[in-house]
Amino acid sequence: MQHKHQASSTLPGDRAATRASCADDFDSEAITVDVAQQRILSRITPLAETEQMALYQSLHRVLATGITSTMNVPAHTNSAMDGYALSGDDLPESTPRPYHVVGTAYAGRPFKGHCTAGQCVRIMTGAVMPEGTDTVVMQEHVDSISDSEIRIYQGHNKYQNVRNAGEDIGEGSSVLSRGRCIQAADLGVMASIGVAEIDVYRKPRIAFFSTGDELRPVGDALGAGELYDSNRYSLHGMLGQLNVETVDLGIVEDNLNDLRETIGTASRKADLIITTGGVSVGEADFVKQVVEEMGEIHLWKIAMKPGLPVTFGRVGNAAIIGMPGNPVSVMTTINQFVLPAIHRLSGRPDYRPLTIQVVCQSKLKKRAGRFEYQRGILSYDETGQLNVSATGKQGSGILTSMSRANCLILLDENCDGIDAGDLVTVQPFNTYL
Ligand code: AMP
Ligand code: MG
Repeated sequence: MQHKHQASSTLPGDRAATRASCADDFDSEAITVDVAQQRILSRITPLAETEQMALYQSLHRVLATGITSTMNVPAHTNSAMDGYALSGDDLPESTPRPYHVVGTAYAGRPFKGHCTAGQCVRIMTGAVMPEGTDTVVMQEHVDSISDSEIRIYQGHNKYQNVRNAGEDIGEGSSVLSRGRCIQAADLGVMASIGVAEIDVYRKPRIAFFSTGDELRPVGDALGAGELYDSNRYSLHGMLGQLNVETVDLGIVEDNLNDLRETIGTASRKADLIITTGGVSVGEADFVKQVVEEMGEIHLWKIAMKPGLPVTFGRVGNAAIIGMPGNPVSVMTTINQFVLPAIHRLSGRPDYRPLTIQVVCQSKLKKRAGRFEYQRGILSYDETGQLNVSATGKQGSGILTSMSRANCLILLDENCDGIDAGDLVTVQPFNTYL
């Protein structure tokens, strides 16, 4: 199990948690992951502006107005099979009986006549049930006697093989709620009730930039002690999977004026600003100072690994989250704190990533007292059982661990290590294996 031993002393995160529940101002101690997630969400106001758009273009947008059906689906009671339609009261009781075939009903071309006792109508899947019929006998279950006569055997049931009008969606019923993030099937469902245009919330605008004197854009040559800015690429990739507008503000040097200017610009353009680097207590870590100066800070330390120093606050109308520069910290923090915030901004209150419990095949080292996100690889063993193993080296600079991983292994504050064979909770982020 994940909780191998309960930590006996009070956890630093728990202490902070009790105090944080009533305090709005930032806490100088690290707060727990749970408290941090709640606090961030409580400071994010969902966007109110809406726009109308064509249904066809709306995949993964968030509905601003719920959808109620003005019609039945199916619109008419129809056949679920190719076969013969007749009245259920006229089915044979004890011996097979012949029936006269009085016409044919096709999908989209109803049979116009009436069907009476001793008669049936040849019917195709999806064709409207002819007047006088309520039951369909499958084609494979009848004998053909001549072009206009068939034989039906006993053993059938009244109403079989018929789809009732409104059986999928009833007229007047609520189909999709406000706040629904539109999925592929939803597009089909809305099309099935004839909806061509829908109201959605506007896309959140997200500005991001990297900070660090040592950073160079890919394409440039590297000088001594310099490295390529990889964070903007990972970030661009993660944001690219969401329905957001992004503003990439590039690389900003570690000095107060450049940071003030960039954060100021970003706050006028975006609903959320994401920065990487420069939030710890190193001499060149100015992000927190600038946010404090230009706006307010709601939290700045979360008891987790990787990614302990996280600055979250507000500048003007924009929320801002400043993450440490380590590439793995960035991706983990985005995953755990920024994605929920973006979904809340988008008007989607129901966002909760999937977590599952699986057997861990690796021994994992972990200290109690803080939350850890280790990179895991979910795979199937020979018996078809899903399990997880660690990606190997877990340092916050080992970005290839994130690239090899397809899930985060969530080890909570109480956990002080995992033995091979223990159950762990994982959060998949690539759902194909
Ligand atoms: P910082 O949070 O600024 O102290 O950065 C922590 C570590 O992450 C340092 O080793 C940085 O060089 C590295 N780092 C910061 N920003 C980036 C970036 N955009 N891309 C890759 N590595 C970075
Ligand atoms: Mg830095």
